[in-house]
Amino acid sequence: MNAAIKFHGEPPTSLTLPALEALGLRHASTTRHCPGIAHPSEPVSPVRPEAAAILARHGLNPARVTFLRQVHGAGVQRADSLQGGCAGAGDVLLTTKPKLPLAVFTADCLAIVVFDPVEQRLALAHVGWRGTVRGASGAAVRALVEEGARPEQLMAAIFPSIGPCCYEVDPPVIEPLAAAFRDRWEAWTRPAGPGRWQLDLWAANESQLCAAGVPADRIVNPRLCTACRPDLFFSYRKEGSRGRLVTCAALPIGGEASP
Ligand SMILES: [Zn+2]
Repeated sequence: MNAAIKFHGEPPTSLTLPALEALGLRHASTTRHCPGIAHPSEPVSPVRPEAAAILARHGLNPARVTFLRQVHGAGVQRADSLQGGCAGAGDVLLTTKPKLPLAVFTADCLAIVVFDPVEQRLALAHVGWRGTVRGASGAAVRALVEEGARPEQLMAAIFPSIGPCCYEVDPPVIEPLAAAFRDRWEAWTRPAGPGRWQLDLWAANESQLCAAGVPADRIVNPRLCTACRPDLFFSYRKEGSRGRLVTCAALPIGGEASP
C-alpha cells in the first residue's frame, strides 16, 4: 500500500519506516493488534511481555525501554544514565547512548523521531495540539543541536497519528495556536463551519521541524491517519481510551554511522 511504511505480522502488530531503516535506526511502532501495551505510569514499564516480544524482534531491548510521564508540554528529559524505566515528566526524550530504546505512547497524538545518523543522537517527542502550541517538535531539534548535532544532517519522522481529514477543533484549540503562531496558523487549518476548523498537526509539526533547521526533504511522514484506520490503530478521537500505540527507537551500536 504505502511505500513509506512497512508492516510486520499478520495481522500486522508493528510497522517500521524504510527511510529510517536505511540509516540503521532500530525502531518500531505498534498497531492495535499488538497486545500488552499498558498506560505509561511510574515506575512499572507499560510494555508487558506480549509487547516486549514484538519490540525484541525489531532489535529493541524491552527491559531497557525508557519512557516519560507525558504531560502535553515541550519539556526535554535525557535518558543516558538510565537502564530503562521512567525518565520523569516531559514530552521529549533524548539519548546519545546506543541500544537504549526510547518510547512514546500515543492514540492520535504524533510520535516524532528525530535522528542524527552521522553522530548518533536520538530524540523522540510526543506531540498533540498542546505540544504543537508549545513547540515540542522544535524543542526536540534544538535539544539535539545543543548536543552538537547539525540540523541539516538530522532526519525526522512522523508516525501514524490523526490527520487533517479527521481532526476538527474549536476555539479553545485555535486561539492558543493562533497566539503562538500568528503568521503561520492559518496555513495549518481549514475552516469547517462557524467556530470549527480542521487542524493539520502534520503540517504544523513539519513546519516547526523545518523552522528549527531540519531540511524538508529529510522529514518522513507516511500520512497514515489513526482515525481513518481503526483496522490498524487506536484513535482517541474515534473510540476514546481503548488502547495505545507505542513508538520505540534506539541508536544502533556506536560507530555504525551512515551518511
Ligand atoms: Zn483521517
